[in-house]
Amino acid sequence: LLDALADMGALAIERVRLVEDLDRAERAAETDRLRQALLTSISHDLRTPLASVLGAASTLRDLEAVLGAEAKADLLGTIIEESERLNRFIVNLLDMTRLEAGAVAPNLAPQDVAETVDTALRRVEKVLAAHRVVVDLAPDLPTLRLDAVLFEQVLVNLLDNAAKYAPEDTSVTVRARREGGHVRIEILDEGVGLPEGDIERVFDKFYRVRKSDRVRAGTGLGLAISRGFVEAMGGTVTAANRSDRTGAVFTVTLPVPARTTKDIAA
Ligand code: ADP
Repeated sequence: LLDALADMGALAIERVRLVEDLDRAERAAETDRLRQALLTSISHDLRTPLASVLGAASTLRDLEAVLGAEAKADLLGTIIEESERLNRFIVNLLDMTRLEAGAVAPNLAPQDVAETVDTALRRVEKVLAAHRVVVDLAPDLPTLRLDAVLFEQVLVNLLDNAAKYAPEDTSVTVRARREGGHVRIEILDEGVGLPEGDIERVFDKFYRVRKSDRVRAGTGLGLAISRGFVEAMGGTVTAANRSDRTGAVFTVTLPVPARTTKDIAA
C-alpha cells in the first residue's frame, strides 16, 4: 500500500511539474508574441516616414529638370517634416528605454510653474495656432522642485495631444491650483474624449485609442513617457473625461517641497 501511495504521490508531483512547464511555455510564448508585435509596430513607425523621405528625395533627383519651384518646395517640405517625425520617434524610443532602465535621474531645482507653462506654450504655439488657449494659473502657486526639462516635455506632450485630438476653434485650457501639499495642473480640451472604462490604457506604450490616431504622426509613447517623467519627480498623471462637457482632462500633481509648506505655515 505504501508503495502504491508513493507511486501516486510521484505521479501527482509529475503532473504538477507538467502543468508548471506548460504555464512557463505559455508565458514565454506570450512574451514572444508581445515582443514580435512591438517590433512590428516600431518598424512600421520607422519605415513609414522613411519611405516618404526616400520617395520625395528620389522624385527631386529624377525629375529635377521638369519640376516647378512650388513642387520642389513641397517635396522639400515633406522631407523635412517626415525627418522631424522620424527624429521625434527615435527620441521617444530612447526616452522610453532610459525610463525602463531606471536611468532617468531628474535634476531637481526650484522651479516656477508659470514660467515652465509659458515656455511649453511657446514650444507648441504652432500646433495650437488654430485653438483658443486659455491659461488659468492661481497667482499664489508655490515654487516647486522640478526638473524643468522633464516637466516642460510633459506639458508639451499633453498640449500637443490636446491640439491633435480636439478640433480647431475649440478651447485648450491649462489650469493650475495649489491643493494642500500638491500643485494640481490640468490640461483640458474639447475633443472627442477618451473611451470610458478603458481610460488607463492611454498610458500604455504604443497604445492608440483609434487606429487612425497613428496617422496623426503620433508615436503612441507620449503619455507613457510623460507618466514616467512625472513619477520620477514624485508626482502623478491621470486621465479622465471632462464632467462639464465632452473632452479629455489630463491631471498632473506635483508635491510642494516640505520647506515651502513650512514657510507658508509659519
Ligand atoms: P500619440 O503619439 O499616439 O498621441 P500618446 O501616448 O500621447 O500617443 O497617446 C496615446 C493615445 O491616447 C493616442 O493615440 C490617442 O488615441 C489617445 N489620446 C491622447 N490624448 C488624447 C486627448 N487629449 N483626447 C483624446 N484622445 C487622446
